Amino acid sequence: MTDLLTGPDTLPQERRLVTEVPGPRSRELGARRAATVSSAVGSTLPVYVERAGGGVLVDVDGNSFIDLGSGIAVTGVGNAAPAVVAAVQEQVAAFTHTCFMVAPYEGYVAVCEELARLTPGDHEKRSALFNSGAEAVENAVKVARHATGRQAVVVFDHAYHGRTNLTMALTAKNMPYKHGFGPFAGEVYRVPMSYPFRDPEGMTGEQAAARALALVETQVGAGNVAAVLIEPIQGEGGFVVPAPGFLPALADWCRRSGAVFIADEIQTGFCRTGDWFACEHEQVVPDLVTTAKGIAGGLPLAGLTGRADLMDACHTGGLGGTYGGNPVACAAALATIRTMRERELAGAARALEAAMLPRLRGLQERSGAVGDVRGRGAMLAVELVRPGTTEPDAELTARISKACHAQGVVTLTAGTFGNVLRFLPPLVIGQELLGEALDVLDAAFDEHAPAR
Ligand SMILES: *Cc1c(COP(=O)(O)O)cnc(C)c1O
Repeated sequence: MTDLLTGPDTLPQERRLVTEVPGPRSRELGARRAATVSSAVGSTLPVYVERAGGGVLVDVDGNSFIDLGSGIAVTGVGNAAPAVVAAVQEQVAAFTHTCFMVAPYEGYVAVCEELARLTPGDHEKRSALFNSGAEAVENAVKVARHATGRQAVVVFDHAYHGRTNLTMALTAKNMPYKHGFGPFAGEVYRVPMSYPFRDPEGMTGEQAAARALALVETQVGAGNVAAVLIEPIQGEGGFVVPAPGFLPALADWCRRSGAVFIADEIQTGFCRTGDWFACEHEQVVPDLVTTAKGIAGGLPLAGLTGRADLMDACHTGGLGGTYGGNPVACAAALATIRTMRERELAGAARALEAAMLPRLRGLQERSGAVGDVRGRGAMLAVELVRPGTTEPDAELTARISKACHAQGVVTLTAGTFGNVLRFLPPLVIGQELLGEALDVLDAAFDEHAPAR
């Protein structure tokens, strides 16, 4: 059997730089890329990957990077996780595609059974599967509108929901997601998020919810709202964790108003925040939940799960797509979920938080540029500002992130103002490897950030 050879156990879990970054072979590929790949598609790293496993990416020049990004919260079970590789190999040899709308298969049904078990709430649920997060969000809006007979969708400042036409409208940030790409879909209304670092001092979650909902009631009208759509912890918007009470207050308002409460758990789901889903932290039970990213260990799959009465309200044939719930992606999802259960990766995410938070708070003690340290589980961030203010420092954020890349650590940035360093390590990353990555981050701060 060769299937285990792609697993993390056989790829050394180490940081190793053997050339400059990028090395000669990556530079060569970069030149080929420039001549053929649209420059509208960007990349964070200047290197080209040849292999990956567990918590490392190995480039074509033999450099091994510690991965603190997981391909944007996707490879929670580790890259090329052995159980995922084996399940994919078995499925791809059996059949690659039938289209579930033409000839169905068990894997799709089994993934929907898992989604019903794992998502918050013990009510009767139904699911449908798609290819990408944006597609799941689009379908959530379709279901909410059809089921309620209403049109308005309420979204939040700093929200990110995707790059298709409707999801661009739902997304807050102009550059790079929306600029020049309009006109956008209508009946989308944006209200303030609970953002403790930037809200008035002491504002509670309930007060922030009242601020948002007052706008909805005066400008939209409760009876026109099909759905309130929110990320329980915002992802691209900068890992904004709303104040306690904010999400429950929104969910209560939806229940009273007949609106559908949609939790976009695409980035937060599948153990990332220390629970299967981030809504569990405050016992919030959404009407609909969107999932993707961490669900299938790197294969493209997305889900929409929710109340059976809503999900079954549409006519048969109203939801679907050629590839949605592809059998290979479903096999990968089942292996991913099994791995998360067996290895108790929600607990692993909490352990990563315990290991990382003190290190990030240490940065805050050493440098006045760290305005805020926040997040939950293995979804943590630092927000960089000009010392003594809340004025964003995107330039310093980019400089520190680049310094980490040059030293063999993959870091990502985020935030409406581009001033958030975010950390999304694979949930299986070893403590030693993580510690080494944080040493590199420390050194980057010591070199580039102003000391206190
Ligand atoms: C990534 C993301 C999406 C979009 O998912 P894609 O698979 O890139 O279409 C939507 N919502 C959230 C919260 C995300 O993080």
